[in-house]
Amino acid sequence: MAQRRYSMFAVAREALRYHSGWERAWRSPAPKKRYDVVVVGAGGHGLATAYYLGKVHGITNVAVIEKGWLGGGNTGRNTTIIRSNYLQDPSSAIFDKALKLYEDLSQDLNYNVMFSPRGLLMLAQSEHEMRGYKRTVYANELQGVSTEWIGRERVKELVPIINLDGPRYPVLGALYQERGGTARHDAVAWGYARGCSNMGMDIIQQCEVTGVRTEGGKVVGVDTTKGAIDCGKLAVVVAGHSSVLAEMAGFRLPIESMALQAWVSEPIKPAIDVVVMANLVHGYISQSDKGELVLGGGTDGFNNYSQRGSWHHIEETTRALVETFPIVSRLKMLRHWGGIVDMTGDRSPILSKTPVEGIFVNCGWGTGGFKAIPGSGFAMAELVAKGHSPLAADFGLHRFKEGQFIDESVAAGVAH
Ligand SMILES: Cc1cc2nc3c(=O)[nH]c(=O)nc-3n(C[C@H](O)[C@H](O)[C@H](O)COP(=O)(O)OP(=O)(O)OC[C@H]3O[C@@H](n4cnc5c(N)ncnc54)[C@H](O)[C@@H]3O)c2cc1C
Repeated sequence: MAQRRYSMFAVAREALRYHSGWERAWRSPAPKKRYDVVVVGAGGHGLATAYYLGKVHGITNVAVIEKGWLGGGNTGRNTTIIRSNYLQDPSSAIFDKALKLYEDLSQDLNYNVMFSPRGLLMLAQSEHEMRGYKRTVYANELQGVSTEWIGRERVKELVPIINLDGPRYPVLGALYQERGGTARHDAVAWGYARGCSNMGMDIIQQCEVTGVRTEGGKVVGVDTTKGAIDCGKLAVVVAGHSSVLAEMAGFRLPIESMALQAWVSEPIKPAIDVVVMANLVHGYISQSDKGELVLGGGTDGFNNYSQRGSWHHIEETTRALVETFPIVSRLKMLRHWGGIVDMTGDRSPILSKTPVEGIFVNCGWGTGGFKAIPGSGFAMAELVAKGHSPLAADFGLHRFKEGQFIDESVAAGVAH
């Protein structure tokens, strides 16, 4: 049954009756015997895939199956940086589609995802980086994506707490995207989940997919901890566990799983109202609505499936950031956490058909997929529904055989 809309009037009505009338945001049904499409993984990408399958293509006999709780994977663990200033054309196309969808997402979902286009700077701290970012600005202009190169003085205006003249990492300028920013990660997952549930889709949590059933090279269903479920098509959207699911279906993916972590300081008064990335030192910083400074760096240098990162990474990243943001040296750090990210060799995602008919994969977003969620879901839904999506076309598995890499690793050392 469709939910009542959230509105100012609903808030006022509930305030008058002690908030006793709110409905659950999504249903928790038992799985049916068969669905037209089963999506594995209730992270942002899986939920967005299901949402646009229903909204754009009218396919609503869909289940989203999640082994934990929805949004409990990387979607609930990331630092929420949103930007579309990528170098390569296919990347900027899908990331800018995502950014445009983010701009209206709260209205579309009738759920406040707290999208905050506060502006994003990528600092140039070497001549090489400066040349690279200027090149990206020119590429973005050709792609119709608005970004600009700004000098040191403008950087200081936007980020008063910055130290421009560090001995090791002086700031030479920055690649600036005014439309970039952040959103509330949980709310993105919850908003899409509510939208899916409203369309009659089943979100089945605490249900692990343990096997993929095929007949004559075609998918027919999955085995789960809640029993077998038949399906016409299967969308595998499980980030760091993509290779595990692929192995169940009998093929391999060029994905490595690694831990990526982030950490936050104690809450302080407003100190920085933009997002700053310092890719040379593998660090980035923003301030949450609660006042915590959110810090993060690069992935661990080895493969693993543990949802926490190496201690030395925190030390190295914080040490490097202290030079550019001396304020960090005086803060107590509150907590840190990790997620398992899915890395490809060219640091670009995979949205693709697979060797098994009816199975599609969406993975490889690595350290930077939160910003892509709406665009990725939109493209993946089109791929699953129609077998082809212009936005996804260049991100197929074929590129690893043909050498048609979409090399974003040179465009951003840290790809959040
Ligand atoms: C510390 C950190 C910081 C980050 N910072 C940023 C950032 O600032 N900006 C940005 O754009 N991106 C960032 N990212 C990357 C971003 O979080 C991910 O790219 C994105 O969230 C991936 O979403 P997803 O839906 O593909 O995966 P997930 O959210 O991980 O969802 C996959 C789901 O699949 C489920 N699953 C796995 N196996 C099974 C199974 N067998 N059966 C059923 N369910 C299964 C998992 O439980 C999980 O919930 C960061 C990531 C981390 C870890």
